[in-house]
Amino acid sequence: MPDGPRDYYRLLGVRKDATPEELKRAYRKLARELHPDVNPDPEAQDRFKEVTTAYEVLSDPEKRRVVDLGGDPLSSAGAAGSPFGGFGGFGDVFEAFFGGGGPMGANRGRRSRVRPGADALLQVSLTLEETAFGVRREIAVDTAIVCDTCQGNGCAPGTSPRTCVTCGGVGEIQTVQRSFLGQVMTTRSCSACGGTGEQIPSPCPTCGGDGRVRARRTKTVDVPPGIEDGMRIRLAGQGEVGPGGGPAGDLYVEISELPHETFTRDGADLHCTIAVPMTSAALGTDLVLTSLDGDEKIEVRAGTQSGAVLHLRGKGVPKLRSSSRGDLYVHVEVRTPTKLDDEQERLLRELADLRNEDVSVSSRSSGLFGKVRDAFRQ
Ligand code: ZN
Repeated sequence: MPDGPRDYYRLLGVRKDATPEELKRAYRKLARELHPDVNPDPEAQDRFKEVTTAYEVLSDPEKRRVVDLGGDPLSSAGAAGSPFGGFGGFGDVFEAFFGGGGPMGANRGRRSRVRPGADALLQVSLTLEETAFGVRREIAVDTAIVCDTCQGNGCAPGTSPRTCVTCGGVGEIQTVQRSFLGQVMTTRSCSACGGTGEQIPSPCPTCGGDGRVRARRTKTVDVPPGIEDGMRIRLAGQGEVGPGGGPAGDLYVEISELPHETFTRDGADLHCTIAVPMTSAALGTDLVLTSLDGDEKIEVRAGTQSGAVLHLRGKGVPKLRSSSRGDLYVHVEVRTPTKLDDEQERLLRELADLRNEDVSVSSRSSGLFGKVRDAFRQ
C-alpha cells in the first residue's frame, strides 16, 4: 500500500466538489484515451485501472464520503501486490458506461438477451425535523418491472425463443473484405437478433418481447437521523429491471432538504438569528427559542453586543450513524429603535448626557453629522 490515502480526485483530474456528472465526464474522457483496446501501452493500462478504481470509488456516495473524511474506502481490502489489486471487476464499471459487451475483447461473441437493468434515481423532499431525527417514508417508484405475462422471457404464452436463423445462434457475422491492406476479416454483431443469437418468434403481447413493463410501486424508505441534503440512500435491486427481465439495478433516493423558517444548517450544526431590542441587550433578558427539541430558554446577558453568538451545545442535528449531536448557534442582532416619540428621545438624550456621550450636533461639522441627526429624527 502506498503511504496515505490515494488521491482519487487527482487521478480523475477533477475538483473535490465535482458533481456526479463531472465525474462521469472526466472518467469517460480518460477511459477513451487509456482503454487497453485503444492504447496498448502497459503504462496506460495501469492508469486505466487506476482511473477506473477512482471513478468506482467517487461515484459511490458512501465511498466518496469516506474519501472526503480523509480515509480510503479500499484500504481495508488488504490485498497484497498491486495497490489496486484488491479491487476486481473494473470491467463492470466500464461496461456500465459503454454498454454490455463493450470493447473489452474478452466479451466478444454472443451476448445475452437478458441484461442487467439500470439504476434509478428519485428525489425526496424532507423537512429539517425529518432529516434531523429520521423518518419512514412511503415513496412512489416508477420503474421497469418484470412482465407478469411472460415472466420476463418476452415470449407469448406457450412459445419460446428460437435460435437466430441469420447467425446460427453465434450472435455475430463475419465478413471478409478486400482493402488496401489485403483481405480483412471483420466481425460484426448480428443485426437480426441484436447479437443475442436468439429470436422471439411470437413476442409477448403485454411487453412486446422486452420482458419488462413500466409500473408504479410503493416502497418504504427508512431515512436515518442526521442525513444531509444531497445524500443518497441506496435500495439494492429496486431500480430498473433489465431487458429480457434481467436483474434490476439499484434505486437511489436522493434527499433534498426543505429550507427551515428559523434554522440554517451547516453539517450537524444549526444557526439562527434572534433580534433583541437595544434596551434588552443593554439590560439583559431571557428569551424563549423553539429549537428542534422544543422550547429553550435563552439568556441574553446585560451588555450583549450585536453580532454576539450564543452557543448551545448538543442542540443541533444528530450526526449520521453516531450518538452525538451538533451544536446550535444563536446569533444576536441588536435592533436600534427607528421611531422615537418626544418622550423617548428626551430619555435617550438624558441617558446619553449621564454617560457623557456627545450626541449634540456641532455647528462646525455640517454635512455628515447633520444628516445622521436628520435620519435619527424621522
Ligand atoms: Zn411479457
